[in-house]
Parts: sequence; C-alpha cells; structure tokens
Amino acid sequence: MFDSTMTAGGLPLPGSGAYDVVNPATGLVVARAPACGPAELDAAMAAAQAAFPAWSADEKARRAALHETADAIVAAVDRLAPLLTAEQGKPGYEARGEIAGACAWLRYYADLDLPAETLLQDDENGRIAVMRRPFGVVAAIAPWNFPVALALWKVAPALRAGNTVVLKPSPYTPLTTLAIGELLREVLPPGVLNVVSGPDPLGAWITAHRTPRRISFTGSTETGTKVMTAASADFKRISLELGGNDPAIVLDDADPAKIAEALFWGAFRNNGQFCMAVKRVYVPAALHGELVEALAARALATRVGDGAAEGTELGPVSNRRQYDRVAGLVADALGRGAVAAAGGAPAGDGPGLFFPPTILTGLSDGVPIVDEEQFGPALPVVAYDRLDDAIDRANGTPYGLTASVWSADTDRAAQVAARVDAGQVWINTHGRGALRPDVPFGGHKSSGIGLENGRWGLESFSEIQVVGRL
Ligand code: NAD
Repeated sequence: MFDSTMTAGGLPLPGSGAYDVVNPATGLVVARAPACGPAELDAAMAAAQAAFPAWSADEKARRAALHETADAIVAAVDRLAPLLTAEQGKPGYEARGEIAGACAWLRYYADLDLPAETLLQDDENGRIAVMRRPFGVVAAIAPWNFPVALALWKVAPALRAGNTVVLKPSPYTPLTTLAIGELLREVLPPGVLNVVSGPDPLGAWITAHRTPRRISFTGSTETGTKVMTAASADFKRISLELGGNDPAIVLDDADPAKIAEALFWGAFRNNGQFCMAVKRVYVPAALHGELVEALAARALATRVGDGAAEGTELGPVSNRRQYDRVAGLVADALGRGAVAAAGGAPAGDGPGLFFPPTILTGLSDGVPIVDEEQFGPALPVVAYDRLDDAIDRANGTPYGLTASVWSADTDRAAQVAARVDAGQVWINTHGRGALRPDVPFGGHKSSGIGLENGRWGLESFSEIQVVGRL
C-alpha cells in the first residue's frame, strides 16, 4: 500500500477521512488517500494566500524555483512512475514519459518572459505602462488521464506569473500528485504549492471558495459547465479545457498502409483516454476497406496488459466508470449493426479493466459512439462519398478541440484544415509531437474557454493593470 499525505503551508495536512484508490489492472486497493474536508480546504487556501505576497514579489526566485522543481521531479521519476502506473494503469514507459515530459513545462515557463508594455514613453509627456499582475491564489483542478502532465500545465505558468496554487487531482488518481506535493515541500517556499485530495464534492467546494481568484480546470464538458456557473458568483477568472470528439479526415489521395500506424496511435495512445485523441475517422468509401484492414491489423497486434509488466503497449481502462461507458457505447454500436474489425468486447473476465483496441465499421453519424466523446479504446471508421459532407460532419458536434487531415498533398490538406472548427488541426499526424509547452492548446465551442501553454497560457495567469501618469 502506498502512503501519501496532502500538503499545505509546506507541511503534511491530515485529511478528515480517507478513501480507496484502486489499481485498474488488478482491482486491488493500492492506497487509502486522504479526503480533504472543508476545514482542511480552508487551511490550504489560507496557506496559499499567506505565501502570495513574498512569492509574487520575487521574480528571480520564482524562475530559479521552477528549475529546481523540475530537477526534483526528474530525479524522483523512478519512484513516481510506478505510482502513476498503479493508480492510472498506463504502461511504465508512458508513465515515465508523462512525468519527465511535463517537467519541460516547468523549465519553459521558468525561462519565459512576461514583459510589461510601455504605451507612452517615460518623458515629459508622461508614461503609460501596461503591467501584468498575478491574481493571488489559483485553484487548479485536474482529470485522471494525464494526472501529472495536466497538473503541471497549470502549476508551471501559474507559479511563474506570481500566483500561489491549491492543486486538486482527480479522486481516481491522487497518488502521484500527492507525492509531488510531498517532494516539493523541500523545494518551494511553504504555501506556494498546496495539494489536496478527496472524492467530490471537493471540486465544487474549491470553485465555490472565496479565496481563489482564478480557476484552471481540465475535465469533462459537463463538469466545466458547473465550474463556469460556480465561478460566476464572484467573477473568478477561468480557463476550461474540456471534452472533444476529434475527427480525422482522410483525403482520397492518402495511402491507408502509410497512415495506419500514426492514425492508430493518434486514436489509441493512453487507451484513447486522451483529450485530443482521434475519436472518429472519416475516410473515402473507396479507401474504407483498406484502412479498416490496416487499423485492425495494428489493433490485433497490440500488447494489452498490466502497465507494470514489461512490453505492455496499452494498460487497462483507467477506472470502472470509464470502462462501463466505453463497453456500453461499443455494445450499443454493435447492437445497431456495427461490425468490430478488431476487439469489440472486454478482454478476459478477471478483475482488471482490460478492453482491447476496437475498430468499428458499418456505422455512421447518429450513433452515440460517433456523435459523443467515447474517451476510450474504440474507434469508429466512417465512410464518406463527398469531402464537403465529411467536413460538415466533422464540424457537426458541439465540440471543437482538435482534428487532423491526412493527405499526400499537404497544401490541399491545409485548405481542408482551414474549414475545420477546432483549436488545433494537424496534418498527417494527430497527437504525436503536438503537445509542446510553446504551442497554445485550447478548444473551440463546448471544448473549452481560454488557452493553455505558450505565452498565451502564461498571460492567462495574470491580469492587466494600466499604470499611468500624464
Ligand atoms: P471530470 O469532469 O469528471 O473531472 C475532472 C475534475 O473535476 C476531477 O478532478 C473532478 O474531481 C473535478 N470535479 C468534479 N465535479 C466538480 C465540480 N462540480 N466542480 C469542480 N470540479 C469538479 O472529468 P474526468 O472524467 O476526470 O476527465 C475526462 C474528461 O476530461 C474528458 O471529457 C476529457 O475530454 C477531458 N479532458 C480534456 C482535456 C483538455 O485539455 N481539453 C484534457 C484531458 C481531459
């Protein structure tokens, strides 16, 4: 059993209770995580508030501390990665990659400038400067699919801009985040980063709390609506990174054999539990059979198993709620006449939440697995006759997170990309290499509000203050 504690003011913060964290590969309880009650949340918020004046005043110290934070996390990766695998399910190499990769965000923001702008020169006519001020306390709320990366996407720019943070991981995956909080007690000044955990309604308590002035949220569109509503009570600033139903549009000059591998991993990395995963493929009818065959062959060759075992490419689905959702959507599609070219049913009858990568054909829009976000290892491949129609269908959901266009002619693909309503549209790739600290990430429509990453992400953790004299 792993042992972990919450952190507030640089010290362990005991919970008011505890709850089970389950390994999705074994069904076994791996830890009793602390449950934060209202009094502990008040203590964490107060610690963050108390740390704010000194932290916001010393930019040089903040830059140095972010580099030291990255060093400390990288040095602990051998200890943290097995924890992440045990609570989330992902294979060891993915867990290591997530943790070490996320540290690039800390280093990037440590070195990024957030300059004031002078609109009127400082001369006898006066001076008008546009300054950027941190908000104070930022509440950061993360989901379970990339618990460390998505937390650090928030923590790094928030701290760099001069805010202090209260961070809440998903109740399914609190352990690695709590361990990072423990480890950083020795690195960051007390109260700069506070970590609380617990089952909901902890998230709702945080968004209703009077202390944070800014909420950075990643999670489902459904919860995002609640966060936005709660934030409106006292006009907290928000960024919402929400769900998606990300289309891949294959053009008629693409070679299915060439694109299948990249398309497969664009959809199935992290078992499809990836906000920007390909969630539906539109392919010309003439190429449909060949592409399905190539994707199915790759799916059948995939090694699914316990993420802690050597050679595993895909672990279990991360939690029972998500497993039931994916299994339900696949069963529903099959019941409506869809055909599974690979997968299609849970793997084995053990306690592990294993579901093989599933390629579905013989279905179109109007079926829930095409119309909704499945967020799991099942991919519908839909045939189209007219490209205009495929683009309309790609755009025909409330979502607009990411998309991709696949073609031998990148200029033609770029013209199609310009017609897709999504925050990111990639050509001949989807996901791989796309997540970089300097590239803005954010959804259109119901996929979110605001941007993370790049200078846009940093700016979003500050507000403008004009200081002038005339
Ligand atoms: P979720 O909305 O169920 O939970 C996300 C977080 O919100 C958790 O920490 C949860 O405890 C907390 N929460 C629950 N109720 C709350 C409330 N009323 N107020 C505040 N916080 C509350 O989402 P999930 O199942 O953990 O994650 C999967 C979803 O996240 C998918 O829809 C996926 O697309 C989305 N996601 C989006 C991105 C992105 O960058 N756009 C990235 C990863 C995941």
